[in-house]
Amino acid sequence: MKQKITVLGSTGSIGTNTLDVAARHPDQYEIFALSAATQVDLMLRQCAQFKPQFAVMASAPHGQQLAEKIRQNGLKTQVLQQQDALEVIASHPDVDAVMGAIVGAAGLAPCLAAARAGKRLLLANKEALVVGGALFMDTVKRHGATLLPIDSEHSAIFQCLPEDSGTWAERVDSLLLTASGGPFRQRDPATLSDITPEQACSHPNFSMGRKISVDSATMMNKALEVIEARWLFDMAPEKIKVVIHPQQIVHSMVQFRDSSVLAQLGTPDMRVPIACGLAWPRRIESGAPVLDFAKLAALTFEEADARRFPGLHLSWQALRAPEGTTTVLNAANEVAVAAFLERRLSFDRIHAVNLQTLESVQPGAVNSLEDLMALDARARESAAAVARLWVR
Ligand code: NDP
Repeated sequence: MKQKITVLGSTGSIGTNTLDVAARHPDQYEIFALSAATQVDLMLRQCAQFKPQFAVMASAPHGQQLAEKIRQNGLKTQVLQQQDALEVIASHPDVDAVMGAIVGAAGLAPCLAAARAGKRLLLANKEALVVGGALFMDTVKRHGATLLPIDSEHSAIFQCLPEDSGTWAERVDSLLLTASGGPFRQRDPATLSDITPEQACSHPNFSMGRKISVDSATMMNKALEVIEARWLFDMAPEKIKVVIHPQQIVHSMVQFRDSSVLAQLGTPDMRVPIACGLAWPRRIESGAPVLDFAKLAALTFEEADARRFPGLHLSWQALRAPEGTTTVLNAANEVAVAAFLERRLSFDRIHAVNLQTLESVQPGAVNSLEDLMALDARARESAAAVARLWVR
């Protein structure tokens, strides 16, 4: 039987890589639904190639444009335009697996809908877990969903951990998340204010979406990943460590009580963790090149420089603070990164916006998706006000 897949964020870097892997196995995977925000023509091409039953665009005007083009091209895909369309395609009874590859907190509601429907949820959208935290993990457990990490670091840890999760706590000493260090690993910290969006988005090893590219350059991506690891693996924050590994061959490691360390290695290609998530516990061909050990240069490791990457430590700080603080951090960072990409804020002030928003927004109780979204909105407002003070 073919698995029916919904790809949320199909026009992005993770979305297109997911479709690439699925297309290599037409006997095993069928695309049931696709979603995107702005790229109507790419979505049209994806609908023509994969013939999904449903497609969703994030805004009504883009949805209408897509529906019109689908009609002109004689395709059968139905464009869903109601308010909860993303939740509908994430939780539809015919769907087996959902790839969560929307960027930012916008992905939380549909990922939660997939979890509530007990789906196999492949999670790339780390912000959903950073915002949703305990509520997200509770929903997964309560509804018997299967959560498979797609972030390469978390996929690596998932593959290194023993399968009998009940005994991790006794055996695992720490999780070691590797980080490339991004394009500014060796840049003089005094010159960080001059960095342009183009420079920040040119990652040394990967082509990724613009938001995660900036997050990699500030290392806020790793901060979000520390929070993601805390929830995915139910690990105490102080047992999660970060080590810089510029070659991105070792994707992350698990250190055990007896000082043994297990690592997962591979070429830096997101199709590897995507294929792993799609097929787990089977293995399928991903399309990624295999590692050629004879040609590998040295694998190096170093400590992250706190002066250059002050945002990294906000993860542990936020995890120690009241619940909801990671929601505030994520919202502040989304606002600050958007302001930087629109050239309204300098690169070094992304951290300043995050820090100041954390200081000024008190989370309060967060018991539902509505609470989380209200807190997210409050933090965004506060971060936008801070960012305006530093307008260029
Ligand atoms: P992209 O920016 O390339 O793609 C994002 C996708 O989400 C696009 O399909 C976009 O549509 C859609 N989208 C954007 N905003 C909204 C919105 N408000 N509502 C609904 N859909 C929206 O991002 P990436 O693929 O790089 O990243 C996706 C997620 O995966 C992120 O959370 C990222 O942190 C994570 N991730 C990414 C990795 C990578 O290598 N890229 C690695 C590990 C994790 P459109 O393009 O049509 O506007």
